[in-house]
Amino acid sequence: RQEQFRALRNVEPVTKDGKRISLQMNAGLMVDLPQLAESGADGIGLFRTELQFMIASTMPKLEEQEAFYRNVIKQAAGRPVTFRTLDIGGDKVVSYFRAHEEENPALGWRAIRLALDRPGLLRTQLRALLRASAGSELKMMLPMVTEVSEIHAVRDLMQKEVQHLSKFGHSLPRKLQFGAMLEVPALMWQLDELMQEVDFVSVGSNDLFQFSMAADRGNARVSDRFDNLGRPFLRILRDIARAGERNGTPVTLCGEMAGKPLSAMALLGIGFRSVSMAATSVGPVKAMLLGLDVGHLAGELNAALDETRSNETIRDLLLRYAETN
Ligand code: PEP
Ligand code: MG
Repeated sequence: RQEQFRALRNVEPVTKDGKRISLQMNAGLMVDLPQLAESGADGIGLFRTELQFMIASTMPKLEEQEAFYRNVIKQAAGRPVTFRTLDIGGDKVVSYFRAHEEENPALGWRAIRLALDRPGLLRTQLRALLRASAGSELKMMLPMVTEVSEIHAVRDLMQKEVQHLSKFGHSLPRKLQFGAMLEVPALMWQLDELMQEVDFVSVGSNDLFQFSMAADRGNARVSDRFDNLGRPFLRILRDIARAGERNGTPVTLCGEMAGKPLSAMALLGIGFRSVSMAATSVGPVKAMLLGLDVGHLAGELNAALDETRSNETIRDLLLRYAETN
C-alpha cells in the first residue's frame, strides 16, 4: 500500500469529475519538512508554531524564532506554508509559561486570548514571521478566535510591526495573507463578518468538534462518543463551506478528520476544496479522491443532511457510497 501511495506523489489531486482539490500537510518541527516533497502535498496548511516553544526549556528569543521560520520557509522550497500563531494553553502545555492552574484549561486563557493579553509575546512572534518572510509571501492564521474583533486587534499589532520594520529599513514580505481558524462555535453566528475580515479561514475541526459537542478531545470516555460524521457536525461544516463560497473566501480544514479518507470524502461532498492533514494521510486521501465523482456525492449527501426523519446515519450512507461507487 505504501508503495502505491508513493506512486501517486506526482499525480495531480483531481476528482473524477474534474475538481482540483488542494491537499496540504500539517507540520510543526523541522523533522516534518522532508515529508512535504515525499508526500507530494501542495504546501503546509497548518504549521503549529507552539511546538518550538513546547520543546524548549526557555522562551525562544526573537532571533531563534526568526531563524526557525526562515529555515522552514527555505526547506518548503517555494510551497506555501501557513503559520499559525502561538496556540499555548489547553492541551498544549508550555512548562515555563503557566500563570496559574485552571479548572477548565480548554475553555481558559489560551491561544489568541493569551496572545492579546501578552502583546509583547505576540509582537515578537509577528516580527519574527515578518522578518523571516522578507521578499516572499507570509501566510499566517490565528487560533481560537471567538469574536471578529480579536482579529482587528491582531491586525493593529501587525500594522505596528510592519511600520517598525520599514522605519528601520528592513524589507517586508511581498504579500501578506491573514487568516483565522474556526474552532469556537460562537463564530458560526459571525460567519459573514468573519469571511469579510480575513483572506482565508481554516477550520480546526478537533477543537470545533470538542466545543460543539461539549466533549473533551483528550478524554477517551467522551471523545469518541459522538460521531463527527453525524448530521449535527456535518451540517455545521457545510454551513462554513457555504459561507466561504458566498463571500468568495477560501476555506480549508486542518483537523484530524481531513486525514481519514471517509471523512475527507464527506468534506468534499459538503463543499470543501482544500484540506490539510498528517503527511502520511496525503496518499490515502488522494487515492480516494481520484476515483470520486464529487458532484454526484454532493447530491446524495446534501439530501441526506437535509432529511429530518431518516434513521440512516450519515456514516452508513458514506460507507455504502464508498463501497458502491
Ligand atoms: C484543530 O483544533 O483541529 C487543530 C487543527 O488545531 P490543534 O489540533 O493544534 O488544536
Ligand atoms: Mg485547535
